[in-house]
Amino acid sequence: MGVSVRPKKQDPKALAMDKHKVSVFRKEHFNAAHRLHNSAWTPEKNDEIFGLCNNPNFHGHNYELIVQVTGYPDPETGYVIDTKKLSDLIKLEVLARFDHKNLNLDTTFFATLNPTAENIAVVIYELLRAKINSTLDLKIRLYETERNFVEYPS
Ligand SMILES: [Zn+2]
Repeated sequence: MGVSVRPKKQDPKALAMDKHKVSVFRKEHFNAAHRLHNSAWTPEKNDEIFGLCNNPNFHGHNYELIVQVTGYPDPETGYVIDTKKLSDLIKLEVLARFDHKNLNLDTTFFATLNPTAENIAVVIYELLRAKINSTLDLKIRLYETERNFVEYPS
């Protein structure tokens, strides 16, 4: 049998919360228009690669955003992160910028970057990462349709 050395605890019934990483998820929603386009390509190639998402007059998606924050529950609150604060942060950093916006025209993020689900997820990650405690892990899942979704970091 292996020998495991465990530090003695004062209360043997107390859970060692520093050993239990937990993920907290917050789901949010936004509507936005976009157009996927590569100006270096012919209209035919853009149509072939991007299909309906290349529509010159833009089109909308109902994006479902799931923000995953992982860490150890705080010993005093039992929270990994206060979901109210997380919700407020997503509203401020993401929804206020993207909801009911044309991602190509109304935001600076996609002036030269194609607003694919992949790129939107990376942008959202960077916006939130800057505001969430660095001891917590962050992952973004973004649904462009019910069946098409991306995750970052992978
Ligand atoms: Zn699209």
